[in-house]
Amino acid sequence: MALAGTVGEAISGVAMEHGMLKRALQPFGESVFTEFTREAVRHQAINLAQGFPDFDGPKAIADAAIAAIRAGKNQYAPSAGLPELRQAIAAKVRRHYGMKVDPDTEVTVLSGASEAIFASISGLLEAGDEVVLIEPAYDLYAPSVAMAGGVCRRLTLHAPNFELDADELRKVVSKNTRMLVLNSPMNPCGKVFSKTELEDLRDVLVACDVLLLCDEVYEHLTFGEHRHIPAATIEGLQERTITVSSTAKTFSYTGWKVGYAVACSRLTAAVRGAHQFITFCTATPFQAAMVVAVDSDDDYYAGLVREYRKRRDVLLSHLRAAGLGVIEPDGTYFALADCQRLGWDDDFEFCRYLAAEIGVAAIPVSAFYDSRAHGRTLVRFAFCKNVDVLNAAGVRLRGLIRQ
Ligand code: PMP
Ligand code: GLN
Repeated sequence: MALAGTVGEAISGVAMEHGMLKRALQPFGESVFTEFTREAVRHQAINLAQGFPDFDGPKAIADAAIAAIRAGKNQYAPSAGLPELRQAIAAKVRRHYGMKVDPDTEVTVLSGASEAIFASISGLLEAGDEVVLIEPAYDLYAPSVAMAGGVCRRLTLHAPNFELDADELRKVVSKNTRMLVLNSPMNPCGKVFSKTELEDLRDVLVACDVLLLCDEVYEHLTFGEHRHIPAATIEGLQERTITVSSTAKTFSYTGWKVGYAVACSRLTAAVRGAHQFITFCTATPFQAAMVVAVDSDDDYYAGLVREYRKRRDVLLSHLRAAGLGVIEPDGTYFALADCQRLGWDDDFEFCRYLAAEIGVAAIPVSAFYDSRAHGRTLVRFAFCKNVDVLNAAGVRLRGLIRQ
C-alpha cells in the first residue's frame, strides 16, 4: 500500500522558534496539526492526525479551476468575492436551510473558514472584549481572539456526551462578553448541536446581547438521525450570527482555501472591513471553480455522507478491535478514542508512541482544551481517508493489544 498522500505536505522541518513572536501568541506554541503531521512524516506513520482527505474532490471542480486559469481569471477578484460564487452560496443556503440572504450585502468569500473566523473576530472585537469558547475548541479560535486583544472565557464540555449546560454558560457570560464561538458539527468530538441546545444558547445570547460566530465547516457531514441545524435559522439568532463555512471539507479540496461568511449586512460590513486588509480577496480561479461545487445537487451530498459513514464505521471497528474505548461521532470526519483502557493517562505521550511505535498518527485531545487536565485520555482519529488506508491503520493498531 502506498503511503503517498497519507502523510501530508503541510509540515515544516523544524519546530518553530518563539524568540521573536509577540507575547500574546507565545502561549499557543506550534499548531498540534503541524506537530503530529511532522511525527507522521518522521516515522512514516499513516497520518490520521491532520484532517485532510487523501483523495481529490469531484474532477469537474478541478476541471473548472483549470478552465478558469486558462480563461484568464487570474487577477484579483472583488474583495467580497466573485458575484457568481456569492450568488451560488446564497442559493445553496436557501435550498438547504431556507435561509434568505442577499448575495451582495450578506455573503463574503474569504480564504478558508480560517480567514472567515479571523476576519470576523478582528472586525468585531475591541481590545479587552471577552469571547466565550466552547471547549474542546478548534485551535484557531483562541489565538485569533488573542491577536485581536480580546480575552477568552471557556465553557468546558465533557466526554462522552459533550452536553451544553445553559446554567454553566450563564456563569461564563458577563457584561464584557462580545461574542461566543460555536462549532457544530464539532471538531474534535463529532457532536452535532440539537435544536433544543441551540435554543438554550439563544436565550443566553439574546439576554446578554452577545454575538454568535458559528463555525459550520462540517455542515454536510452528519450521520444517522442527526441533522445539521444552522444556528442562524433559530428564531432570534439570525441578526446576531455570523455563519462561517468552507468548501474544504464538503468538496475535499482543503488546500484551495475557499471559505465564506454569511451574516446580516451590519455584521457583514465588519467582516469585510477586516477582510479587505487581511487578504483583500481569495484566489480567483478557485472561487470560479467553487461555483460548480456549490451548485451540486442533493445526490452529491447524499453520496458524501454515504461514503463517510462507511469510512467512519471502518475506523470505529478498528479502534474497538485495538482495545480502545470509542466515542461514536454524530458528525465531522473525526472519531475520539479513549486510551485509558490500554493503561495510558497522557494523550500526548500516547500519540507520540502511536506514531513512533505503532505507525499511526493521531491528535491528542487535551490540545483542544485550555487546561490539559481535560481530554487527557482522549485521542482524535481522522477518517477522511481511503478505506484501504484505514484498514492498513487498523492492522497497525492491533499492535497496541500485543504490547
Ligand atoms: N474550523 C474547523 C472546525 C476546522 O476543522 C477547520 C479545519 N479545516 C477550519 C475551521 C478551517 O477551515 P479552512 O481550511 O476552510 O480554513
Ligand atoms: N482542520 C484540520 C483538522 O482539524 C486541520 C487544519 C490545519 O492543519 N490547521 O485536522
